[in-house]
Amino acid sequence: MAKLIGIDLGTTNSCVAFLENGRATVIPSAEGGRTTPSVVAFTKDGERIVGQAAKRQAVTNAQRTFSSVKREMGSDKIYTVDGKKFRPQELSAMILQKLRSDAEAYIGEKVTDAVITVPAYFTDAQRQATKDAGTIAGLNVLRIINEPTAAALAYGFDKMVSRKIMVFDLGGGTFDVSILEIGSDMIEVLATAGNNHLGGDDFDQCVVGYLLDAFRREHGMDLSKDAVAMQRLNEAAEKAKIELSTSRETTVNLPFLAMKGASPMHLEVSLTRARFDELTAHLVSATRGPVQQAMDDAGLQPKDIDRVLLVGGSTRIPAVQDAVRKMMDREPSRDINPDECVAMGACLQGGVLTGTVNSLLLIDVTPLSLGIETVGDVFAQIIPRNTPLPCHHSQVFTTAAHFQTSVEINVLQGERGSASGNKSLGKFRLEGIRRALRGIPQIEVTFSIDTNGIVQVSAKDLGTGRSQEITISGSGNMSREEIDRAMREAEIYAEQDRQNREAAEKHSRSWGKRDAGAAKEEAGKFSEDDDGAMDV
Ligand code: AMP
Repeated sequence: MAKLIGIDLGTTNSCVAFLENGRATVIPSAEGGRTTPSVVAFTKDGERIVGQAAKRQAVTNAQRTFSSVKREMGSDKIYTVDGKKFRPQELSAMILQKLRSDAEAYIGEKVTDAVITVPAYFTDAQRQATKDAGTIAGLNVLRIINEPTAAALAYGFDKMVSRKIMVFDLGGGTFDVSILEIGSDMIEVLATAGNNHLGGDDFDQCVVGYLLDAFRREHGMDLSKDAVAMQRLNEAAEKAKIELSTSRETTVNLPFLAMKGASPMHLEVSLTRARFDELTAHLVSATRGPVQQAMDDAGLQPKDIDRVLLVGGSTRIPAVQDAVRKMMDREPSRDINPDECVAMGACLQGGVLTGTVNSLLLIDVTPLSLGIETVGDVFAQIIPRNTPLPCHHSQVFTTAAHFQTSVEINVLQGERGSASGNKSLGKFRLEGIRRALRGIPQIEVTFSIDTNGIVQVSAKDLGTGRSQEITISGSGNMSREEIDRAMREAEIYAEQDRQNREAAEKHSRSWGKRDAGAAKEEAGKFSEDDDGAMDV
C-alpha cells in the first residue's frame, strides 16, 4: 500500500513525517536535515533546485531564488524567471515535490497521499492554493488541517486526558493562537485567532533596518537597492536574531558588503538582546490582540487553561516567551519539538483518516466569519467565526428593486461590519429571478465549509428553483486547466529530478565518497428586511 505523509509546509522551513508502526516519525531530507528550507531557485542553466541547496546559493543567485512564498499563497503574485511565470502555488508545489521524493527515498515506497497543514488563520483562497500546490506535486491531498490543531494532536495523541490547551504558534511568516480541548477520544478547537502577516521574517526585517542604518551612518551609503547586499543582510539578520535567543549580545560581521569607488566597504556592528527587544517590541505586542480574542471567543480566563504550548521557531525568542508568560500568567511548555510537531500531527491525522491509527475525532473551526454584501455596504454574516467544521448555513434574502431579475452575490470573509472592510472571496450572479415587486422574491443563500476549511456558496431562487453554485476561488487561484498543466510540468521535472538523482548516485559510487543526497537535490446587493430577510 502506498504510504501517507504529513507535511508542514512552512514559510521558512518545511517538515515531513510518516507513520512507522503507528508512531509519527520525521523523515530526514536527502541532505540529512530534519527540516527542509522552503526555498526554490533556478540556476542560469535552467536547473531547478529546492531546499538546502537553494538556500546555500541564495547570496550569489539572489534574483533567481525565492523564499517565504507561503506569504503569497492565494494572492495573484507572479514570480518571473527567464520569461517563465510561476504562481506561488507552483513554487510551493516544487517544495512539496522535493519533500515527497525525499520521503519516497527514505521509506523506499511510493507516496501518494498527504495531509498538509496551513495556519489556522489562512483564508479560503490560501487554503485552496495550498491544496492546489499538493495536487500539482502529484499528491492526493486527503485533508488540509490547521497547524495548531496538528501540533495539539502530536502533543495530545498518547495522553488523552481531558484538558484545555492553548497553542501559541509564531512561525516564519504567520501567527496563530488556538484554544483546544483535548478529551479521551476527541480534540476540539474552541477558538482560533491570528495574523497571517506576522512572523520571524518581520523580526529579521527589524534587524536588517538596524544594519542598514549602521552602514549608512558609517559609510554614507544606502544598500537597500543592492539585491546581493540585501540577501547577505537578510541572512546575517536571521542569524543574529537566532543567536540572541541564547546570547545577550552578538556581532554582525559582513566583509566586502559593498564597493565605494574602488574601496571595499565592510560592516561590523554589535547588537544586544536589549536593543533587539526594543526594535521588535511592536511585533511582540502584536501577538496580544489575537490571544485576547481567542480567549474571549472561547469564553475562558487564563486560569482555565491547563497548558500553553509554544510552536514555531519564533517562539524561541526570549521576549516572545516572556510576553506569553505575562499574558497567560504561567510558564509555557516546550515539551514538544516546535519544528517537528506540526508535520507529526499531520501524519497522525492522516492515520486517523485512513484508519491506521486509533479513531479520534478532530473538530476544527472556521477562523473568520463569512457572509455576503447587502445594500449600503453592509456585511450580512452567515457563518460566524469559530463555527465547528464541516458546517452548512442558509439565509433567505430578497430583492432591493422592483422587477429585479438578477442579483450579484459578493462572498466576503472577515470581521468588519462594512462589506468593503472585509475580503471578497469571489462574486457570482444568480440570473432569471421571477419578475416581482421588491421584497417578494425569496433567494436562499447557502454557505458550506468542508473539513479542509474550503468554502462553497450557492444561491437559489425559491420561486423558480433556479440555482447557482460556486466553489470559492480568489483571483490568485488556479483553474482546473492551469492545475493540470502545472501537474504535467511537475511530472516532467520529477522525472528530470529522478534522473539527476540517479546520475548523482552513480557519480557518488564512482567517486566513492560523496553522499548521494548531498550530491544534488533537484531533485447583487442585498438589504435587511423587517422580517430578517434581506432585500436585493
Ligand atoms: P517555522 O516557520 O516554525 O519553521 O519558524 C521559522 C522561523 O523561526 C524563522 O523566522 C526562523 O528564523 C525562526 N527561528 C528559528 N529558530 C530560532 C531561534 N532559535 N530564535 C529565534 N528565531 C528562530
